[in-house]
Amino acid sequence: MSNDTNYKLKKLLKELESKRGRHTELISLYIPKGYSLNEIMTLLSNEISLTQNVKSKTVRKNVTDALTKIMQHLKTYKKTPENGLAIFCGNVSEQEGKTDIELWAVEPPEPLGIKLYWCDQKFELQPLRDMVKEKDVYGLVVLDANEATIGILKGKQIQVKKHLKSIVPGKFIKGGQSQMRFQRVREGLLNDWLKTVAENVKKFLSDTKGIIIGGGGPVKDNFYNKHYLPTELEKKVIGIKDVGYTDEHGLQELLNRSEDLLQEAAVSKEKKILKKFFDNLNTDSGMVVYGLDAVIDALQKGAVETILISEDLDYFEGEFICECGNSFKKIVKNENIKCPKCGSNMKLIGKEDIIDAIEEIVKNYGTEVIIISRTTSEGEQFYNIGGIGAILRYKI
Ligand SMILES: [Zn+2]
Repeated sequence: MSNDTNYKLKKLLKELESKRGRHTELISLYIPKGYSLNEIMTLLSNEISLTQNVKSKTVRKNVTDALTKIMQHLKTYKKTPENGLAIFCGNVSEQEGKTDIELWAVEPPEPLGIKLYWCDQKFELQPLRDMVKEKDVYGLVVLDANEATIGILKGKQIQVKKHLKSIVPGKFIKGGQSQMRFQRVREGLLNDWLKTVAENVKKFLSDTKGIIIGGGGPVKDNFYNKHYLPTELEKKVIGIKDVGYTDEHGLQELLNRSEDLLQEAAVSKEKKILKKFFDNLNTDSGMVVYGLDAVIDALQKGAVETILISEDLDYFEGEFICECGNSFKKIVKNENIKCPKCGSNMKLIGKEDIIDAIEEIVKNYGTEVIIISRTTSEGEQFYNIGGIGAILRYKI
């Protein structure tokens, strides 16, 4: 998934997360890849019938209206979109007695595997949340002297890329040959075999974020320790684990045993960049700034290499207009601002997510935008100093 798709989905999730129904009246509908829209229409018609049993007249009406709206929306599709479809719909009005039935339709960036119809006070977002998390691709290799399997891991799904069989004979001589000659031949074949595995690892796993190696005996360790992998791939290796199989089952076993490594790897990019940020801050190097105004100023000078934004930062870009005719866009924390020209209260007429606004500013400068979660203590610390900061290309 591209970074941009990821941000957009994250942003949408943030918006949907904030929505609450006053009653059990928010509908989440997940249509899996390849699933028939006609069957979904039937399911929705049945739900409309069932809804007639709901006691509260308001809830009954809101749910029926939402279901009808979803059905109307589905009619605009000739068929289920390539990766399936997720629809969220319901009355999101914050005032009791008022109705505001809104609909969001998401064509997910990865294939949807689940079918779900759910009515609750909030939207069910977990399947999409998993996709946001699942942007990183890891490589898995399991090998011994006889067999190797190479796969990639996207989220929780393993795709087998290559299965290889060696011609390396067993360790023990069959008779007739001299033991020393046999061992020499075997070593040679094993060496060729590991080179072949390494070539295939290079071919299939070069674009991955990290690689995990597994196998039953010492062959997997030698494969790593004796540098069969080119340096750039060796650097990607995040762990070596013992597993019992070297076929497709071995990949699954390797994944099961590597949860710890993967969890650590997921936060390590954030941790590394935050370490760099705080190291610079603590030594007063002049190479970092933080706080909205300082960051925007540095951005506009083109001096920012990396901008860090806490995912919980509650700033937004508002479009403001004043009675005097003055108007502008500004990143702010709340919407009460006074006109710099005449001093009147300005009116907010548009709102944009801060990540989008920042991306718009940075697109001409080649600045990297990194979203920082609050799941690590460093991320929490970052949030506490304002949740926005930048690592600079040069001192300003
Ligand atoms: Zn004004």
